[in-house]
This record gives sequence, structure tokens and C-alpha cells, in this order.
Amino acid sequence: MKEMKRTKIVATMGPASGAKETLQTMIEEGVNVVRMNFSHGSHDDHLKIIHTVREIDKEKGTHTAILADLQGPKLRVDEVKDNRVELVAGKEIIIGTKKVLGTEKRISTNYEHFANDVKAGEAVKLDDGKLHLRVVSTNGKDEVVCKIEHGGILSSKKGINLPNTKISLPCLTEKDTVDLEFALEHNVDWVGLSFVRSARDIIELKHIIKQREKHAMVIAKIEKPEALDELDDIIKETDAIMVARGDLGVEVPMQNVPIIQKDLIQRCIVAAKPVIVATQMMESMISDITPTRAEVNDVANAVLDGADAVMLSGETSVGAHPIEVIKAMAKIIDEVERHDQIYYHETVPAESNEDRYISDSICYNACRLAKRVEAKAIITMTFSGYTGFKVSSQRPRARTYCFTGNRKILTLMSLVWGVKAFYYDKMVSTDHTIADIKYILKKQGYIAEGDNIINIASIPIAEQGMTNMLKLSKA
Ligand code: PGA
Ligand code: MN
Repeated sequence: MKEMKRTKIVATMGPASGAKETLQTMIEEGVNVVRMNFSHGSHDDHLKIIHTVREIDKEKGTHTAILADLQGPKLRVDEVKDNRVELVAGKEIIIGTKKVLGTEKRISTNYEHFANDVKAGEAVKLDDGKLHLRVVSTNGKDEVVCKIEHGGILSSKKGINLPNTKISLPCLTEKDTVDLEFALEHNVDWVGLSFVRSARDIIELKHIIKQREKHAMVIAKIEKPEALDELDDIIKETDAIMVARGDLGVEVPMQNVPIIQKDLIQRCIVAAKPVIVATQMMESMISDITPTRAEVNDVANAVLDGADAVMLSGETSVGAHPIEVIKAMAKIIDEVERHDQIYYHETVPAESNEDRYISDSICYNACRLAKRVEAKAIITMTFSGYTGFKVSSQRPRARTYCFTGNRKILTLMSLVWGVKAFYYDKMVSTDHTIADIKYILKKQGYIAEGDNIINIASIPIAEQGMTNMLKLSKA
């Protein structure tokens, strides 16, 4: 019987992973989603990745999802002298918007409204929160005087985080709009939106995607305190969530991140929205061949929390061991998935959800039945992917196989916990289709003679309506 891990792996692409052979091995070892980080690399670089992924998928029959991660309103300092300026605690420094080559006394930022948006007393953090400054005064126009509270070396182009400031920049910057056009033109599956502050940010992005008649779904990256105040609305509007721990741990006290991670995962499971845990999961493997024990624990805990996917950034984009890190991560996932804690997060469907009440009830009860009869597979036939998301969110031990005639969602579903999608367009009659699919799964080794399997479908099948049928049978 074919075994596959249920928790998915997202790997960020870069110079370390762009070669076809490397990427192919990474996919064989467990990568399900390939992430292009639009903070780095040119469109040419990204296009090469897209072509390589699609080539591998074609040759190997895999369905790798492509995630285009937009930079969003990321604030940065400009270049500094000799790429190295020392900030000394107790001293003052001016941050201006007029471009200068930075020195100990004065640096500049690409964030035009900086002097306008900040107020005296607010925190300014540089380089992933390594350097702490506080605003002393602003002229409201182009200069802000800051006091250095915790100093260190600042190099060029480092990020700025302003945890207490209401930033006036839009969520989709000019650069994001150009990157989004590119990503949609090449039919990516998922679009990541950085520094989401409100549900409106998601609505706006989804509107553009819809206008372009594309299938891409949206991942809201949670990394701003404002987003935490609007979580219910954001989760309602988005298709998926990323716990973007890198920036989040600078924007809110770092010790708050573990509980936020658990809370976000729980909410996403209830809402049937996939959730990714991101950043520094195997950080030491950027250079070392094995992870630290604490990193192993971190990955294991994300799986135990119920994340759909765990993500690698520098580890696979610029790290020395892009294949080893996937192997190590997959081993941790495999081991944790042997244990009972991660299964059966059943949520009774809301009766108020009138539109979907019938499908939701079928999905819910398919999982309950699967548990009772120790079914090996729950098979859905879906065009939108809806039942795949719903079944997955109950975290059944049975594998979820989505058969779909919609090529667009084949790769998209690769982010979703426990789901594997198959292309299938011969929806003849319910009896025939169920028998045919059973035959395919048996032949390919996903189920074995005598296994209990569950089918959910819509009858009459040809109408592709709401899922309203549940069948239990032996393979
Ligand atoms: P980034 O997002 O890598 O695009 O910054 C992830 C994070 O902030 O954790
Ligand atoms: Mn981030």
C-alpha cells in the first residue's frame, strides 16, 4: 500500500533549489507546494521555476501546487555606507525619506509616509527586530529622530517593523500589482498576501483574481497586530492562512507567537481553511546537515497542532542542504502522524449554513463513519474542491482522494492536509463511476482488496450538484 504523509511541505525556491534535478528530488522526498517569494528574484527567475515544476509534474505525474507570495508593504532601509553602520545604544539617529547613503547619524527609507505616519514614543525595529529604536520626534514631513535603545550592526536594505504605527500604505503595493499580474498570467494556484491588516485587503485581492477569471486562491499572511484584531473576518474572507512567524514575532511580543499559532490553527480547522506554519522551522539546516532538537520539536508541534502544512524559507532557497532538509522534515511528520492526537477534529456543521448544510453534513458524517469502520479512504468527486477542504478539516485517519474533472484544482489541492487529487472526467452514472474509481485506486496501490472505503458524491452525478450521498463498501 502506498503511504504518503498527510501534512504538506511548502518549500521556498531560490538559487539552492532551482535546478531541475534538485527540485525533482525535493518533490519526491515530500515537497507539495513550491513557493516563489516575490521579495527576491526576477520574473525571469520565477518563470524558470514555474516551467521546471510543470515539467516535473508532467514527467512524474505529480500535482505540485505553486504559491506566489507577494511582498506587501514591507518597509526597508536604503543602502548604508560600506554595507555596515554601527548603531550605538543611547545615541540618536535620523531616519529620513530623502534618499541618502546611510551613516551612524542618518539613514533613509523607501517608506514615503514614514514621518507622517509615526508618532513620538512608537517603536521602530530594524533587521527582523534585532535593533530597537524609539521615535523621539517627527517633523511630520520627511525626518524622524529616533533614540537607539538596543544597538548593533545595520547593513543595507534591512527590514523595518513598526508594531505600534498605523501604516498608511495599501496592502497591495505597486510592485505587488505588477507581480500579481505576472503570477496570474502564469496560472499559479495560491497567492500569498503579506502584512494583511483587514478583511478588506483579501476582498480586494480576490476581486482582481476574479476579474482576471483565474482560479488562484488566497493565503492571508498573519504578521501584523491589526490582523489579530480582525481574525474572524479575515478567516471568513480568505481561502487559507499563513502563521508568518518571522514578522509576527517582531510585530507582537515573541512569546505571544506560540499561543497565536495554536489559536489560528484551531480556528482554521473549524473554518475548513488550510493553515501553514512558516519561518525558521529548520533554520540551522541552512548551514548544518541536521536540525537542532528544538527545531525537530517545533515541526512536530506544528503537526500536532493540526497545521495543514509546514514551510521552509532560507532552508531551501539559499541553504546548503535543500534535499536533506525535506527528508528530515518528512521523517518528523511521518513519525508524528503515527500517533492518535492529530486525528478527528470533528466540527458539527452549523445548521445556519443553509446553502451548504447538506454537503457539510455528508462530509462530517463520512468522517465519523470512517472512524467507526476504520476506513482507508474517503473518496470525493468535486469540481470546486469544496468537499476536499471540508473532509480534510475533520482530520480523518482515512486518506482523502479527490476525483475532479477540473484540472485547475488538481495542483491547488496539494496544500490541503491529507488530500490527494486525481484527474477524472468520466462521470457516467454513480454506480459506474464509483466502481471505476475504486478500480483506479486499487490498481495504483492506494487501497487494497477488502479495505473499507467511503464514497461521497452528488446524485444524479452528471448534474455536478451538491454532495448528497454517502456510500460505504469494500474495495
Ligand atoms: P516572509 O513571510 O518570509 O515573506 O517575510 C513569512 C514570515 O514573515 O514569517
Ligand atoms: Mn513576513
